[in-house]
Amino acid sequence: MHEFSLAQSVLETTMSIAQERSVERIRKVILKFGIFALVQEDQFRFCFDLIKADSDLTAKSELEIIWTPGELECESCTFEGKIEDFSQEHNELAPFFQCPNCKSYSTRIISGTETIIDSIIV
Ligand SMILES: [Zn+2]
Repeated sequence: MHEFSLAQSVLETTMSIAQERSVERIRKVILKFGIFALVQEDQFRFCFDLIKADSDLTAKSELEIIWTPGELECESCTFEGKIEDFSQEHNELAPFFQCPNCKSYSTRIISGTETIIDSIIV
């Protein structure tokens, strides 16, 4: 499961940063996911809560997810631009993204696949 390993690596990174700075408790983790990152938010939250319970450091930490827009380039028309309202429901079904201008699937992702730990609040 993609979300499980992602949540695991986010928490491992978060914990090692916290340990380096002798932090005893993490109150909140703020993540930024690109709109094309193919992360199911509900599943990710479920996995995060499951894994965080294993450590006192993270057991009570809140999770905030910020979705950031992606950029798409179309090979069928001249469209190139930001996609902000890409529906989560399509994530699993359509690994190719539709051009909002000509509806073609011959598109290339320019940005928006990243998952970033934005901040850790202690
Ligand atoms: Zn197009």
